[in-house]
Amino acid sequence: MKILNLYKDHSIPFITEGNKHARDGWVNVHCPFCAGEQNYHLGYELDSNHFNCWRCGGHFQDQTIAKLLHITTDKAEQLIREYEGITRHPKKKIKVKINLHPFKYPSGELKLCPHHIKYLEGRGFDPYLLSKEWGVSGTGPTSKLDHIDYSHRILAPIEWNGRVVSFQTRSLKANDPIKYLACLMAREEIHHQRILYGNQSLWRKRGVCVEGITDVWRLGAQSFG
Ligand SMILES: [Zn+2]
Repeated sequence: MKILNLYKDHSIPFITEGNKHARDGWVNVHCPFCAGEQNYHLGYELDSNHFNCWRCGGHFQDQTIAKLLHITTDKAEQLIREYEGITRHPKKKIKVKINLHPFKYPSGELKLCPHHIKYLEGRGFDPYLLSKEWGVSGTGPTSKLDHIDYSHRILAPIEWNGRVVSFQTRSLKANDPIKYLACLMAREEIHHQRILYGNQSLWRKRGVCVEGITDVWRLGAQSFG
């Protein structure tokens, strides 16, 4: 879809490559799906014509355009056609582009350094327990994966059936526009938003369903995020 024209015609602020929040080939806008700071988290990849938010993951075109312009999805589909895009068939699911490349952690040694420990302790966690029970570690000063900067972050592996399939990271920098940065979809074995986070072997029939990774650590192994 001719996204730049659509954004310009509807006065939606956007940024393109060259800005630190947009990767090459992506056009970014404020994500209408996730709360928190508005910092151009929602990207549209020009080659593959799909939306992906740094924080909340992939989104369908019609739902995204509808949300951005405060219109119905029917109107959004019409608009996408006007801007020469392909609308999805209502019953057809778009394949999530995961597992295109082998799973990998960001580069450099992953370990908890004094600044990671200080951050976790400041939030009321026991860093040694998190490291032992959840494999939580920290990224180094030059940590990268696929040219994306993962430096100075807390890293939490995401396991499924005893295997690490993805990871989530949290920046240590107070004003980092990209607070949470997960494994890129292309390298995930299972998309992190499709799985429940927690220790599966300890789940009972009834558990506590929580918001995210840090809530699971706080509440203990029987909760799932
Ligand atoms: Zn989002």
